[in-house]
Amino acid sequence: MARVSFPYNAPVSQTLFDRAAAVTPGGVNSPVRAFRAVGGTPRFMVSGTGPYLTDADGREYVDLVCSWGPMILGHAHPEVIAAVQEAVARGTSFGTPGEGEVALAEEIVARIEPVEQVRLVSSGTEATMSAIRLARGFTGRAKVIKFAGCYHGHVDALLASAGSGVATLGLPDTPGVTGAQAGDTIVVPYNDLAAVRAAFAANAGQIACVITEASPGNMGVVPPAEGFNQALADLCREHGALYISDEVMTGFRTSKAGWFGVDGVRPDLMTFGKVMGGGFPAAAFGGRADVMEHLAPAGPVYQAGTLSGNPVATAAGLAQLRLLDDAAYQTVNAVSERLRTLVSEALTKEGVAHTVQNASNMFSVFFTDKAVRNYDDAKTQESFRFTAFFHSMLSQGVYLPPSAFESWFVSTTHDERAVERIAAALPAAARAAAEATEVTA
Ligand SMILES: *Cc1c(COP(=O)(O)O)cnc(C)c1O
Repeated sequence: MARVSFPYNAPVSQTLFDRAAAVTPGGVNSPVRAFRAVGGTPRFMVSGTGPYLTDADGREYVDLVCSWGPMILGHAHPEVIAAVQEAVARGTSFGTPGEGEVALAEEIVARIEPVEQVRLVSSGTEATMSAIRLARGFTGRAKVIKFAGCYHGHVDALLASAGSGVATLGLPDTPGVTGAQAGDTIVVPYNDLAAVRAAFAANAGQIACVITEASPGNMGVVPPAEGFNQALADLCREHGALYISDEVMTGFRTSKAGWFGVDGVRPDLMTFGKVMGGGFPAAAFGGRADVMEHLAPAGPVYQAGTLSGNPVATAAGLAQLRLLDDAAYQTVNAVSERLRTLVSEALTKEGVAHTVQNASNMFSVFFTDKAVRNYDDAKTQESFRFTAFFHSMLSQGVYLPPSAFESWFVSTTHDERAVERIAAALPAAARAAAEATEVTA
């Protein structure tokens, strides 16, 4: 924890947070929102337009979280809103098949070559949980290899050494996950092929799948080393295991075809969420048709969902994906590059040790001068400097992820005006980071 003062306040947010804390554990419905890692009052947002959010106290922020990735076209994009209004007026859920879900599945299959068949679900967690079940059902094997610092949602078996909020809160393990649920999970360090080979060797014939973030963003942005994903795919093939690429964060964000569009490594199964829902709960898993055909009702592996393929969510997702052409990605990539340069310049000027890492337009700033290759590296950063930096930016109207272990996200709407507001806030924030001291109490 850093010694930070909060010279500005957010009385309406604080009142809402007090109300929330009475009826909701920790006052939030997803842990990282609670500002536990940085302290202070979480901002309750009331509206968003383009790159801006407005909180309950009427303050406006340039948003560098973008709902943790989904809002790649900015908030309240007129064409997405129109598609949602049109869909919602026709009814919100039928519990039958509908054309919207076919169109969204077709869009995903058309964009991502290894996806021959896809099943829609409502959250990234459901997507990874179902993909793992399918991999186990298909191979008849139990064990799963995952990487420390990779987050795949709050699936019981995948919470061992997870990133995101688990990293932010420094939770070593999650009570409530039994030994039986986690016992078939083998956790190895990221970017460490020798460890993966050793895990396969020690569990011959028992590994159902390797699951990895296509390019991790939940321990901060830590891209795969050159050839790492291909080597994982090769090892899986060699050992009769499935290679599951979790693209919930990178899918439709890092390129038109997600991270597959960047490194071209063919997974057996892939998972999607975030951008594909256009801000609604829509997610998916898909891949090889011969594997997907093991799912009920075509095959024996059960998987279902009352709201899966919801007509409003699929309309939002489809509208968003159709607007995401090459020009859109060029815009987002260019803004990301500008911001990376501006942040690095400001920190360098104040002599703050830092490393900016990116995967296409996803990026994060580690407060260490060493390259971050895995979760252990990420944990060596001086997080207390991030805390000071974060609060300075917040007080100047820039909303960053409230954790040093998360990616920053930009949208097509982060224009010159938004970038200038961020640039204007950086010198003071860099100074605050330089002056920050760790509290060891
Ligand atoms: C966000 C995320 C998930 C979980 O998705 P939810 O919709 O929050 O359940 C899974 N995997 C990755 C890589 C993610 O970034």
